[in-house]
Amino acid sequence: MQFAEIEKAIREIVPPECGLTSIEPLGLVIAIYVKDIKKFYEHEDLVKKIASTIKKKIYVRVDKSQLMDPEKAKEEITRILTEEAKITNIWFNADFSEVIIESEKPGLIIGKGGVGLKEILVRTGWAPVVLRTPTMASSTIEGVRKSEVAYASDRKKFLLKLGKKINQPSPEIEWVRTMMLGGFREVGRSCLLVQTNKSKILIDVGINPETLDPKYAYPYLDMLGFPINEIDAVIITHGHLDHMGFLPYLFAYGYDGPVYTTPPTKDLMALLQRDYLNIVKKFWGADAPYTKEDIQKELKNIITINYEEVVDITPGAKLTFYNAGHIIGSAIVHLHIGEGKHNLVYSGDIKFGFTNLFNPAHTTFPRVETLFIESTYGGRGDIGVQREEREAKLIEVINNTIQRRGKVLIPVFAVGRSQEILLVMENYARNNPDWNVPIYIDGMVMEASAIHTAYPEYLKNSLHKRILSNDSPFECPLIKVAENREEIVNGEPAVILAPSGMLSGGPSVEYLKLMAEDEKNTLIFVGYQSALSLGNKIQNGVREIPIVGENGRAKTLKINMEVTTVEGFSGHSDRRQLVAWIRNVKPKPNRVFTMHGDWGKTEEFARDIARNMMVEARAPMNLDAIRLR
Ligand SMILES: [Zn+2]
Ligand SMILES: [Zn+2]
Repeated sequence: MQFAEIEKAIREIVPPECGLTSIEPLGLVIAIYVKDIKKFYEHEDLVKKIASTIKKKIYVRVDKSQLMDPEKAKEEITRILTEEAKITNIWFNADFSEVIIESEKPGLIIGKGGVGLKEILVRTGWAPVVLRTPTMASSTIEGVRKSEVAYASDRKKFLLKLGKKINQPSPEIEWVRTMMLGGFREVGRSCLLVQTNKSKILIDVGINPETLDPKYAYPYLDMLGFPINEIDAVIITHGHLDHMGFLPYLFAYGYDGPVYTTPPTKDLMALLQRDYLNIVKKFWGADAPYTKEDIQKELKNIITINYEEVVDITPGAKLTFYNAGHIIGSAIVHLHIGEGKHNLVYSGDIKFGFTNLFNPAHTTFPRVETLFIESTYGGRGDIGVQREEREAKLIEVINNTIQRRGKVLIPVFAVGRSQEILLVMENYARNNPDWNVPIYIDGMVMEASAIHTAYPEYLKNSLHKRILSNDSPFECPLIKVAENREEIVNGEPAVILAPSGMLSGGPSVEYLKLMAEDEKNTLIFVGYQSALSLGNKIQNGVREIPIVGENGRAKTLKINMEVTTVEGFSGHSDRRQLVAWIRNVKPKPNRVFTMHGDWGKTEEFARDIARNMMVEARAPMNLDAIRLR
């Protein structure tokens, strides 16, 4: 439906006494502004009637002229909600006639069937948007939420422009093709173009965080064959840099369209992209390919979607996210193109197995013709370790080190592995009350953990429940935020979790320098170490590392500490889990493409899939273009 038709239909339905003033296409939703909201709600099911006629989500808002003064409205809202609602913040967003209420008990405010929300809207004119307060303070979430209000008028302009573009009649889709722009036969810089005769969509715009060499670091956007500003939409599967680290670059070079992702991924992007700028500066002594301002532009254009919500992202393409089980907010992408002409599933990074954090990856889709699957551990030998075994081994290594009065350094990705490891230790501590080894978290680990507490519905049920009942394992008293690294290293036995996970810059490298020469200490690898990383070198036996000393002169760091790897904590599926996932995907795909794995593994995995599952399978290379229909 075109916007003009939508407008006409709504004007016909809304009774004149409601004082309908304007109708706006705000991105994926249609906003209706009325002067008399009470009258509007006196007509039963008006919202339902409109939504079913125009087949769009609608927001009912009160015309600016009728909004209660914010100070008075604040008093009114606190009166309506009482103390029980545990409100931590109230912001007014006049551009959208919205009041943002941050609360520790969002369920209480929303009430049964949204009764609480309606009362606030009718009494104050402001439409409430309720957000959960993270149980741990998070400067990222606070920053993202505040800047949403600060940049509201820019955001509105963007949404209006997008809304007009999206609300077009469905065009005839004649062909669909994909072009592999990064992350094929390699890990890092994931990027896929999905193009039809009517639209150009990018899935993931990653970076290879292990290098700044432009030959390997960034996706092949220069080979798109059209200017960056012609891209219609970008979809981001999850908040790891190899999937979203290059996105601000698009905004630096003229892209001004929408970015679709889940709410937790949005916060992780803000956190990790800013951190990336710092790491590039400090560790590499270089400038990143984009600036803080570009990140801000990107955040303004993000549209968040929850799992299993179906949305029209371009005329002719519907997007749905499904749980990928990999990190918080991680999504599998389902694209339904041209009224069912083609259905594509892009796995992103998936975990189809037990973790302490998430449910296993989703497997059932409406339709699937083409499946893209990650292959990080797609080699025949990539068989992970069972949960009991890996958790016991981790604790054993830690306890041995503590006994000889050493300290344990675990380099981790700030997001994902660090929370999984924290949960294993917290669980052990709960079952062994005498075990009181301090666990220091450094760098972005604490922020990333706080983001988990703001989105408990994205975690597995048992963890969700614990966070809602004020028993968040991330706030266990053994877990402490690292303040002085030297003091920690010279102090009592302890466990230290610090990013980056592959020792490519960040606090983990600082700890390594302080701890490496003492043989009482232990370095434990718990995640994937890419070929170019320092972690990979040490894992493979390199024991002398050239570093820059305090006086600026080169020196050699001797690794005398114990070095060990505890396998199985990866947020990626191992070979068996990948195979099990494909076998469980319903309906069965016609064609499988492997990606996100080393050269040989993606090839071997594709060959085995073709042979064992009787489907067409191959491992495309970067820059391959494949027509799907
Ligand atoms: Zn990932
Ligand atoms: Zn990845």
